[in-house]
Amino acid sequence: MADENDNERMDDNQKSDKMFTLKKWNAVAMWSWDVECDTCAICRVQVMDACLRCQAESKKDSYGKQDCVVVWGECNHSFHYCCMSLWVKQNNRCPLCQQEWSIQRMGK
Ligand SMILES: [Zn+2]
Ligand SMILES: [Zn+2]
Ligand SMILES: [Zn+2]
Repeated sequence: MADENDNERMDDNQKSDKMFTLKKWNAVAMWSWDVECDTCAICRVQVMDACLRCQAESKKDSYGKQDCVVVWGECNHSFHYCCMSLWVKQNNRCPLCQQEWSIQRMGK
């Protein structure tokens, strides 16, 4: 235990200059945009819902919910796999950014 700075004494004359430092809160509104809630640019239906074709078919068949998978491209755009599989037959590019379409992942 070596208290070396024992000689430091507090001044009795207290300078009462209380400086108020204004803390500016950078209230950055963080938009937690849910990327999973994208809209399919081809059929304009949210990718979490079934695409237009599947919606119509499931109504006809009355089979209940048909699984309409979502596909993500390398450009991080997401579409219905049904829509995209038709789209790439005509144009193998992402309809949103015109990048060459390659599937990054599929699923729900
Ligand atoms: Zn779609
Ligand atoms: Zn579909
Ligand atoms: Zn894209």
